[in-house]
Amino acid sequence: MTSWLESQFSLRGKRALVTGSSKGIGSAIAISLAQAGADLVLVGRSTESLETTRLGIEATGQQAELLICDVSSSASIDKAFGGIAEMNVDIVVNNAGTISRAPAAETAMQDWTRVINTNLSSIFQISQACGSAMILRGHGTIINIASLLSFQGGINVPAYTASKHGVAGVTKALANEWGNKGVSVNAIAPGYIATDNTAPLRADQERSASILARIPMGRWGEAEDIASVAVFLASPAARYINGEVLTVDGGWMGR
Ligand code: NDP
Repeated sequence: MTSWLESQFSLRGKRALVTGSSKGIGSAIAISLAQAGADLVLVGRSTESLETTRLGIEATGQQAELLICDVSSSASIDKAFGGIAEMNVDIVVNNAGTISRAPAAETAMQDWTRVINTNLSSIFQISQACGSAMILRGHGTIINIASLLSFQGGINVPAYTASKHGVAGVTKALANEWGNKGVSVNAIAPGYIATDNTAPLRADQERSASILARIPMGRWGEAEDIASVAVFLASPAARYINGEVLTVDGGWMGR
């Protein structure tokens, strides 16, 4: 017999796809979704880079398929996601992301384009491919990884900020269109999480201290702090949440 808790939060029988699942937040999300019962499709730039996460999934008893894709390239997404309809994916987490740190006046257009393509255009293209299949099947859920810089300007990261404002926008646009087709689209806006993405900030003692001083909970976030929220948003318990950009930031935005 299925308990109430299981019926609300179990992902058993579901298949989830996570981009950028080689490390950091994406790896933690993939493993947590598996712990909740989902089988995984891990998207990354190489088989080798996905190995640790694949082993983590298999340790939970769930299955992991690999999809090799450079999400900064529209052609690579086309190629990798050509057969996505047959994979019957129920949950998509658009997590892959990159950052370029330089003052606006010194930001090369090449870096601007790389960040926008990786963080924003990929989300639209992958959501289009997966969302079309979900609409045909009448159900699915998409979770995009946004940022506090979906709301704020940031310091020396103009392309990243523009891309993450775009992630919030495209989340709401798709939610509006697809909500009545059984497909929900939401985003998580993580606060300051200790991963490779933020290593330069943590290495800068002054910057690190000023960031910490503004977080009411008094600590940097861990990738698992985001992963548990992804499990919730992917679960039946979140069935009436749509078009939401949920901050998970130890209280930063409320300060
Ligand atoms: P990491 O740098 O640890 O991980 C980034 C992931 O994205 C890696 O798996 C990386 O793969 C993948 N990736 C990057 N570029 C590409 C590409 N072109 N094609 C395929 N995969 C790619 O960072 P985080 O875990 O911190 O970041 C995950 C997401 O969370 C990002 O969208 C980031 O913007 C967002 N975020 C992070 C915050 C933080 O404080 N850490 C705060 C707010 C948002 P590879 O191993 O091949 O490099």
